[in-house]
Amino acid sequence: MYDLLVIGGGPAGYTAALSGARAGLRVALIEQLSPGGQMTETQQIDNYPGFDEGVDGFTLGFKMQAGAERFGAETVAAQVLSVDFTASPKRVVTDSGALFARAVVVATGATHRHLGLAEEAALLGKGVGYCAACDGMLFRGKTVAVVGGGNSAAADALLLSKLCKEVYLIHRRDTLRAEKVYHTPLAQAENIHFKWNATVKALLHGDKLTGVLLENKDGTEETLALDGLFISIGRTPVTSLFRGILDLDEEGYIIAGEDTKTNIPGVFAAGDVRKKPFRQIVTAAADGAVAAYFAEAYLAEQGEA
Ligand SMILES: Cc1cc2nc3c(=O)[nH]c(=O)nc-3n(C[C@H](O)[C@H](O)[C@H](O)COP(=O)(O)OP(=O)(O)OC[C@H]3O[C@@H](n4cnc5c(N)ncnc54)[C@H](O)[C@@H]3O)c2cc1C
Repeated sequence: MYDLLVIGGGPAGYTAALSGARAGLRVALIEQLSPGGQMTETQQIDNYPGFDEGVDGFTLGFKMQAGAERFGAETVAAQVLSVDFTASPKRVVTDSGALFARAVVVATGATHRHLGLAEEAALLGKGVGYCAACDGMLFRGKTVAVVGGGNSAAADALLLSKLCKEVYLIHRRDTLRAEKVYHTPLAQAENIHFKWNATVKALLHGDKLTGVLLENKDGTEETLALDGLFISIGRTPVTSLFRGILDLDEEGYIIAGEDTKTNIPGVFAAGDVRKKPFRQIVTAAADGAVAAYFAEAYLAEQGEA
């Protein structure tokens, strides 16, 4: 029996665990993989403060875990299979048993959609990326492409056009889904070139990505030499466990305000899983601290803290 259970061991979850444990709550964090969440997919994080030469995601994940455990938070290595937030105490069922707590922070994050190409995972960090805002600087002065046609692909192409020599925007249709506000700046950027009606058929590489093989709608193929490829075809929140339990928006993100409160008292949503405009490590960590603050207040109101 815990005061606070945290589901997910990314920056949001471990910050909630640190803040809760430091405030004297009995806290357990449930994580199915190694600590760090999506951070573990990148070798170089330059925009999390306190690391003057940057830090790799694994190191930062383990540091966040150690920081929370220093104050007594426990890590439970398990996968959450189902939840009952209407029970009192709240019940979280994992593949190694059920855990109970008076308050819960959901910090299950999000996953990037993948193209599903051979070697896509192996080339991550070796020319293939999913976050232009995070990794764009690594391609300063180089030639890159963005795959996608929505707002995030458009925003990524514009961001990269300010850093890179040439930027190709590869889209499987002949018009962008991105909002009109992006169209003029994209058309005006001299180093952005469109590859319409084209899909990436294969990733070309040695040790690193060297280019892509494109398949055009008419069946013809062409090779595009690249230093980097950013796959920007959307993200999926990890919320299937909470469907029908927590209020979700049309994309599946948990609806919770800046106070991280969900529709169920005592259940808080922190990090990328929450409906919000900007998803980064620092904003996930901020959410985790806010969630722990309101969880502590909720427990105090219940006379249980
Ligand atoms: C390749 C890449 C590079 C990035 N680079 C940067 C960068 O340089 N700077 C930056 O600010 N941001 C970067 N980001 C974004 C940043 O990593 C995310 O915004 C951040 O990790 C979100 O944190 P989170 O805690 O909300 O969720 P996540 O990091 O997604 O963590 C969620 C955790 O929940 C766990 N989980 C999910 N479901 C269950 C379950 N059922 N049971 C148990 N555990 C579960 C997952 O295993 C995961 O560990 C990058 C993202 C990617 C993919």
